[in-house]
Amino acid sequence: MGPGYDYIVAGAGTAGCVLASRLSEDGAARVLLIEAGGHDRHPLIQVPLGVAYLSKRRLFDWGCNSEPEPHLNGRRIPVRRGKVLGGTSSVNLMLFTRGHPGDYDRWAENGAPGWSYQEVLPWFKRIETFAGGENTWRGGAGPIGVECIRANDPLYDAWIAAGKAAGYAQTNDYNGAQTDGFGCGQYSIRKGRRSSSVTAYLRPAAGRRNLRVATNARAGRILFDGARAVGIEYRQGGQTIRAPAAREIILCAGVFNSPQLLMLSGIGPADHLREQGIRVLADLPVGENLQDHLSAQLMFARPKPGPFRDLMRADRMMRCMLYAYLFGRGPATRVPGGLQAFVKTAPGLRVPDMEFMFRASPLDAHPWFPGIRPPYADGFGIRPTLLHPRSRGRVRLASADPSALPRIFFDLLSDPADLPALRDGVRRARELAFRVELDPFRGQETQPGPNVQSDGELDAWIRSVAVATHHPACTCPIGAVLDPSLRVLGFDNVRVVDASAMPDLVSGHINACILMMAERASALVRGIEAGAAPVMSTSLSGSP
Ligand SMILES: Cc1cc2nc3c(=O)[nH]c(=O)nc-3n(C[C@H](O)[C@H](O)[C@H](O)COP(=O)(O)OP(=O)(O)OC[C@H]3O[C@@H](n4cnc5c(N)ncnc54)[C@H](O)[C@@H]3O)c2cc1C
Repeated sequence: MGPGYDYIVAGAGTAGCVLASRLSEDGAARVLLIEAGGHDRHPLIQVPLGVAYLSKRRLFDWGCNSEPEPHLNGRRIPVRRGKVLGGTSSVNLMLFTRGHPGDYDRWAENGAPGWSYQEVLPWFKRIETFAGGENTWRGGAGPIGVECIRANDPLYDAWIAAGKAAGYAQTNDYNGAQTDGFGCGQYSIRKGRRSSSVTAYLRPAAGRRNLRVATNARAGRILFDGARAVGIEYRQGGQTIRAPAAREIILCAGVFNSPQLLMLSGIGPADHLREQGIRVLADLPVGENLQDHLSAQLMFARPKPGPFRDLMRADRMMRCMLYAYLFGRGPATRVPGGLQAFVKTAPGLRVPDMEFMFRASPLDAHPWFPGIRPPYADGFGIRPTLLHPRSRGRVRLASADPSALPRIFFDLLSDPADLPALRDGVRRARELAFRVELDPFRGQETQPGPNVQSDGELDAWIRSVAVATHHPACTCPIGAVLDPSLRVLGFDNVRVVDASAMPDLVSGHINACILMMAERASALVRGIEAGAAPVMSTSLSGSP
């Protein structure tokens, strides 16, 4: 490849791998993908059960925490983000949820034309091979594998029965015709392995001569000639490298680092940039509007241990991990993440406003072995989650030094509507937990515990435990910072394609939405979108 590139993509996460792969399908386009982390081949990334260790130890992680949260007793919220090829798609829980069609229609109505559900549906179908088969709603030949998976534990059946008895909707495909209700969980897993944006998109493209992937390389700022981006500056192996780009710079560095990169390049709130000694190119609300789903975890004892605790006996667990790694089969190919139910808590709501995440294991589940480490006391948990909280936070620079981490202010519960809404979710979760269907599995409520009953007691408990749910988004939203083609306003050849670009949160976990946005953005960049229907081939050559 020559000294310059046509496209430079900064960040090889969920979105960046899609962009690099799709753009390099055009053999005449020279593409550089810059990633701050290293390779993703570690077994704990590849084997689904390994996610528990990734999370606990914060492996392949940027190591960020929020600033002290004023409405959460000054607590800092842990902010996990993948720093590795695949980005957060290499360390996430693999849940595959699109959100509700009404979310995308709301986007289109509120200033994001082209993003209605009817228009994005072909792109959603394009990203996936759904194990349940192709139909009106689902794709059958895309790079990401999606499977309905449920651990073999009767507690899950009891949970679904409890939801039904409580009057909530039921669904057998929450990414299909019926998006809300209790039912089976879907995961981005293929042949027993994590189906990340590396395994699905980047690896099959790795042999292309027109694609260069720079790992352990950290982008610092975009280089401009007037309002035109002409390249990017990045650090790799102790050196500063300036890579020229003939066509476009595409930021895919994630919800915190894409706004950081824009601000370091002079695009952001003018006062803040001046405070940091950065020359202002454009005064835009970059980094504002940070949103995340908000949740609190209830826990219950489980008197008779379930099958997951048997699996966690160290010798069995090791054997299962090895078997899953070598053959892609067995219990370690399932995520210990449980089930999700998206529900409407009031009649007439257009989209679900609450999610219940259900886990059939306690928070401190760990490997054990007789005589060495005793097994843990078994339990289960319900996590009510606000899907559309009103509180907004922001991302700011800590300094003009590109190697510094940005400062994250979630400001959770800053909007007075959020606390009573989450309290209502806690009460609903409790009511579900104490239904007769769960009687055979339920011991004492351990968190918040039977003494926490009044509104005041519940509110105090929520402030002491509530967390964001790893779905931060919307810091460079379409409308305020980007045009509907994801171009930075006022800059023809700079785009942001990742969680930052979402106008607001969808009613589901956001990885699938970001994959969809990246697929559609690739076509927009190449100028080959024809109406709503994808014109590029659905599968990737060489895809597994
Ligand atoms: C623990 C956890 C569990 C989750 N579980 C789920 C789930 O089950 N289902 C779901 O839908 N969502 C889940 N999510 C959320 C989802 O995975 C993320 O929202 C999504 O992966 C974000 O994609 P992205 O492309 O915006 O950013 P990322 O995937 O984070 O990609 C950004 C990439 O840019 C790189 N980068 C950053 N700065 C620079 C720089 N300056 N130079 C070069 N490279 C840089 C990063 O290292 C990273 O690789 C989870 C998130 C976490 C943290």
